[in-house]
Amino acid sequence: MCGIVGYVGKQAACGILLEGLKRLEYRGYDSAGLAIGAKDGLDVIKKVGRVENLIRAAAGVKETAHTGIAHTRWATHGRVTDINAHPHVSSDHKFALCHNGVIENYLAIKKFCENHGYTFQSETDTEALVNLIAYHYQKEPEAAGKNRFLTAVRKALLHVEGTYGIVALCADYPGEIVGARKGSPLVVGVGNGENMIASDISAFIGRTQNVIYLDDGQVVHLTAEDFDITTIADEAVDPVIAKVDWEIEQAELGHFTHYMAKEIFEQPVALENAIRGRFSDDQSTAKFGGLNIDPLQLRHVDRLLFCACGTAWHACLVAEYLIERFARIPVEVEYASEFRYRNAPLDKNTLVIVISQSGETIDTLEALREAKRKGFRTLAITNVVGSTIARETDGGIYQHAGPEIGVASTKAFTSQILLTAMMALYFGRLRDLSFTEGREMVEALRLVPGLTSQVLDQADKIKVIAKKYAQFEDFLFLGRQAMFPIALEGALKLKEISYIHAEGYPAAEMKHGPIALVSPECPSVFFAPRGEVLKKVISNIQEIRARKGPVICITSAPRDELPEDLANDIIRVPDAHEAVQPILFTIPIQLLAYYIACERNCDVDKPRNLAKSVTVE
Ligand code: GLU
Repeated sequence: MCGIVGYVGKQAACGILLEGLKRLEYRGYDSAGLAIGAKDGLDVIKKVGRVENLIRAAAGVKETAHTGIAHTRWATHGRVTDINAHPHVSSDHKFALCHNGVIENYLAIKKFCENHGYTFQSETDTEALVNLIAYHYQKEPEAAGKNRFLTAVRKALLHVEGTYGIVALCADYPGEIVGARKGSPLVVGVGNGENMIASDISAFIGRTQNVIYLDDGQVVHLTAEDFDITTIADEAVDPVIAKVDWEIEQAELGHFTHYMAKEIFEQPVALENAIRGRFSDDQSTAKFGGLNIDPLQLRHVDRLLFCACGTAWHACLVAEYLIERFARIPVEVEYASEFRYRNAPLDKNTLVIVISQSGETIDTLEALREAKRKGFRTLAITNVVGSTIARETDGGIYQHAGPEIGVASTKAFTSQILLTAMMALYFGRLRDLSFTEGREMVEALRLVPGLTSQVLDQADKIKVIAKKYAQFEDFLFLGRQAMFPIALEGALKLKEISYIHAEGYPAAEMKHGPIALVSPECPSVFFAPRGEVLKKVISNIQEIRARKGPVICITSAPRDELPEDLANDIIRVPDAHEAVQPILFTIPIQLLAYYIACERNCDVDKPRNLAKSVTVE
């Protein structure tokens, strides 16, 4: 949440900052603002709403300024107003600050600053920090060999409780930027005669592919020619420059209207990338390069704990079904935000696995840290190479799904499910899954990209169904076993992008409450895979129809087992191995949610109140 970008170099900063903000807008779009440094002080422009508004307001800004910082906000403290937009400026006009995160002790800092003569305009926590920086700047005398701007930021941060990714400008130091992080991501882009800093690399990927991922507790000082990283306590840091392995085109819309549609249709490729090179035919198993645990140690794991948030939490629930089914290891699934404060008693042979597309989800990151602190081995499934979770986990699996920009996760979700299915295979083969069963699974999982394409081929049919149901205000999503998490995901997708109330339930559970909602005005989406519970699901469909509830049924059963007249609308997906079904059943609900949202003229890629990469608790 929230995008930050800073530039120092020889080019005009304003255009580069605005370009960077456009690319970061998916991280927050309440308001946007920028500050540029000039010899005669700091110029600040802030506007409520989208970056487009800021672009209009910034027309005519000094093209001569070569240093600047910018921000796109997802409000935590204070309403969505021009004044609350970032950058915030200290009341002595010396500093401008962009911030991602929450300063938890901001009230105490604010009081302290007011007692020392600083004044406040906004309702944000951020303004407390910028004034505290100004206070330390005034207080600290010039020290030989020390940069006073950098020292003031460092001293102020020593008093901050909470989380931050910040970039700051100082009117007395044109041509310099100071950034720091604790809990919110920041990455430095090392250019040629220019340096950049941003919350993620998409802000500057077109200018450089050389990056340094900052760690918590680090401060960076940037000029056009140089960068210097130290800790907040002023210890030296040896920076590692990494090379980014993707190109800017991967983060562009191409011929699609929305990133969400682009990413839905990219799924065959994303899924192919998830499996590439990860099967061993000799041993009928999956193989992962970065687990960093030897198979013998894994034999001794007798419980898995999965932690995640949002859609990734649904992927964990699918993992629970698949791993218990094929590997026979007990699995627990927890919301990361609950696990980290619950002080759960865990058996010492538990392996903790976290899933986060961005690798920056704050609660998931903190759950990982909590598990490590307690001495548990950890694994992570993440999509973003070099993300904080990827760097801090003991071992991990990269999704290689390519950048996911749409706020509603699609390709990242199916790729997470595929990787957990492969994990079920891998763990299973270390235990009781036979060579033949393993081979069947390898063969089935290899078919996933092609089968996914077949489901995507039905997009036009699903669009017609979506039009038919777009005016309803309540939906139920009902499925059993591994389809229950897909029901939850279906309800979430619909809620988040079309603002329709929807609930996911285990199909049988609906008789314990949700059935009271059923009426001709409340459609139910059923998941009816071929297999042991098909007949039970068919009975549940009948129960809904007996009460005049419209039914959309997604099924892999043939017509003789699930006839056309069973539901108002039927979407047929290919019959496949049990481990593959959750992926194939996900595609129709993504398309359904997408087309319904389009039909209702919703802003699919920037849904109300949401933002991608949740970096605040
Ligand atoms: N807490 C700050 C605010 O509400 C920063 C929010 C953000 O991360 O965008 O302005």
